Amino acid sequence: MHPSSFEYFAPKSMEEAIGLLTKFGEDAKIMAGGQSLIPLLKLRMASFPYVIDISRIEGLDYIEEKGKFLEIGALTTMIEIEDSELIKERYRILREAAVQIADPLVRNRGTIGGNISHGDPSNDMPAVIIALDGKLEITGKQGKKVIDADSFITDSFTTVLQEGEIMSKIMIPVFDGSSGGCYIKQKKNAGDFSVAAIAVHLSIDKEDRVRRAGIGLTSVGPRPLRAEKGERFLEGKRINDSVAREAANIIVSESDPTSDFYGSADYKKKVLNRIAVEAINTSYERAMVR
Ligand SMILES: Cc1cc2nc3c(=O)[nH]c(=O)nc-3n(C[C@H](O)[C@H](O)[C@H](O)COP(=O)(O)OP(=O)(O)OC[C@H]3O[C@@H](n4cnc5c(N)ncnc54)[C@H](O)[C@@H]3O)c2cc1C
Repeated sequence: MHPSSFEYFAPKSMEEAIGLLTKFGEDAKIMAGGQSLIPLLKLRMASFPYVIDISRIEGLDYIEEKGKFLEIGALTTMIEIEDSELIKERYRILREAAVQIADPLVRNRGTIGGNISHGDPSNDMPAVIIALDGKLEITGKQGKKVIDADSFITDSFTTVLQEGEIMSKIMIPVFDGSSGGCYIKQKKNAGDFSVAAIAVHLSIDKEDRVRRAGIGLTSVGPRPLRAEKGERFLEGKRINDSVAREAANIIVSESDPTSDFYGSADYKKKVLNRIAVEAINTSYERAMVR
């Protein structure tokens, strides 16, 4: 099927893009890599008279450590995250999530800003950024603001973005030496969205106790979830299998999956329980390699 007709703009600067978004208001839609938006338009599940393609804006495609944060430009693609030496060496959890997204064609165009802004509870990046205590920089006509990633997606396909606003940057606190994390995604086939997935990131102190735990969940609620009770339970503890199992039960109690093509709600909870135990144990093992 072909999409409904729309007028296409390809601004070269943030100012120009924000100007167009402000001018056309709710009739305008941002496009970055187009990997979620184009299928929606083609299936006519959505239509917009004006599409503002931000992919040609300079300076939104980078991965760099700057002061206390790893900063990733919103137009950075999944393949660039996958190939980044810095991410391979120091931020393994991000690569673990990126390589499991769809296929190389989608990853080659799909951006991290688009993956998060789409607001899909089954997209993989939001849970990882939540577990890492990430922040998002939003640019609009009033300038820039920074918000917690956790508060960005408020419901399925719904974010706090206001008219004329563009996500410009993803900011992740730089890891210290004694931390480790992983992303475990249970899927039916390679390239699929998940049945359930979990991102865990643990920082430990000199006595091997968890100083900070970050836990984000994919595909088990109306939006990407933070498992706050699970985080609090782990903090202050040394991890062993029984602690991990107890934490997994708490994490499952915080989930709210629905039955669909990927499985029944009950099955998703069982899957989440299993991968939560594995993710906590693996993250702790990684954090212990000082
Ligand atoms: C076959 C297939 C399989 C897929 N499998 C997976 C998967 O397993 N896991 C997964 O996580 N994803 C998967 N996806 C979805 C895809 O990875 C992402 O949702 C997509 O790449 C989003 O990034 P984009 O740059 O293409 O965004 P676009 O499609 O261009 O935009 C998506 C949405 O975000 C908004 N947007 C984009 N950039 C910004 C910005 N900077 N600021 C504000 N709003 C913005 C757009 O207005 C739109 O609403 C799959 C997609 C396909 C087609």
